[in-house]
Amino acid sequence: MSVPSASKDRKIRARDVLARCDLLARFSEDTMGLRRTFLSPPMHNCHAEIAAWLKPLGIESKVDAVGNIRAFYPGIRPDSPRLLIGSHLDTVPEAGKYDGILGVVLAIALLEEMEGRRFPFAIEIVGFSEEEGVRFGVPFIGSRALVGRADDELLDLRDWNGISIREAIRQFGLDDRKISEAKLAGDTLGYLEFHIEQGPVLEKLNRPLAAVEAIVGQTRLALHFLGKANHAGTTPMGARHDALAGASEWMTFVESHANQIAGLAATVGSIEAKPGAANVIPGEVRITLDVRHKSDEVRSRAVRELAGRGAEIVNRRGLSLQWSTLLEQSAVPMDDLMTREIEAAIRNSGCEPHRMTSGAGHDAMILSERVPSAMMFLRSPGGISHDPAETVLLEDVEAAIEAGIQLLNRLADSKEFLGRTQRA
Ligand SMILES: [Zn+2]
Repeated sequence: MSVPSASKDRKIRARDVLARCDLLARFSEDTMGLRRTFLSPPMHNCHAEIAAWLKPLGIESKVDAVGNIRAFYPGIRPDSPRLLIGSHLDTVPEAGKYDGILGVVLAIALLEEMEGRRFPFAIEIVGFSEEEGVRFGVPFIGSRALVGRADDELLDLRDWNGISIREAIRQFGLDDRKISEAKLAGDTLGYLEFHIEQGPVLEKLNRPLAAVEAIVGQTRLALHFLGKANHAGTTPMGARHDALAGASEWMTFVESHANQIAGLAATVGSIEAKPGAANVIPGEVRITLDVRHKSDEVRSRAVRELAGRGAEIVNRRGLSLQWSTLLEQSAVPMDDLMTREIEAAIRNSGCEPHRMTSGAGHDAMILSERVPSAMMFLRSPGGISHDPAETVLLEDVEAAIEAGIQLLNRLADSKEFLGRTQRA
């Protein structure tokens, strides 16, 4: 299949994409910064804009019962299977303009580039209503509805104003009894997500685009070091049970150990020492540990080794240590075939592809429970995200559009891709 002649110069198309991200950033709950949480009033404006962009393409959009905007671009035949392309439209507080939003706007730009040309698959665009977990403390509400996991327990969660997800859905003008209709269609071949990297890797390599091979697994632990508080002046150094000194010895081990294992990220992100006075030896320390890796085995082994060293340190120092698990999330590999096609498409578009893992969770992680899922990352200048300074380069957007078109062409030519049926 040949590349269609572009209706617009790619640079102009890329500029339009950025201008649309700017426009959507105006729809905010805060006057000073961008904040657009799940089913907040500005989400209505977002949906209206997107619907208006799709209309000239002859595409009607609808909003499903959990607030995801969905738009269907038919394939060659009425019974062509479908490919989902999407990302999320909600944001964190003090957000940038591109996290999530860029993926939705890029998907629309790809349809515009098609100029009505049809593929052996239909394309369904999804703008997820919720990914960041800001309003209800749990992420992925939008994508969970697609995989059939928007259950009663989820819908009964309440926000800080005591409003449940179910009530929020009704207040937005939607019908919570129709949530099951938001489920993925049975003819879905796969899910594709464009997203900014949100880290410094591509910038460091001087490459615009990457294929994501996996979303890392994560262990989050709470640790409690117990020693003995005592007078900082009268207790000789050899007679102390300093919980903070023990915790810090362990923390430096965490960092040096993680440095020795390729791809491992281990972080002590919070610390609280008690009683917390300049003249008292700390008797009690609470810290958290976050460990991530694309391999569950490597991550579990690292956690075991860190635990082993922790036990050795507290024994030697006459302390005790308690652990509790806050989160245990397995790594999610992306679909191998689609990831290879993304790499090839990036190469076809004239860029050197990079293959990497995502250290952050994404909707693709949830969709992959049901359908083959894959992601393409765009370089994040300065590695900055979840901040108003978050940005993306015009030439990288141009490269992503080109690679996106190449990818659709490649998938359209792939018997292996078209021959697959949805996982149960
Ligand atoms: Zn995101």
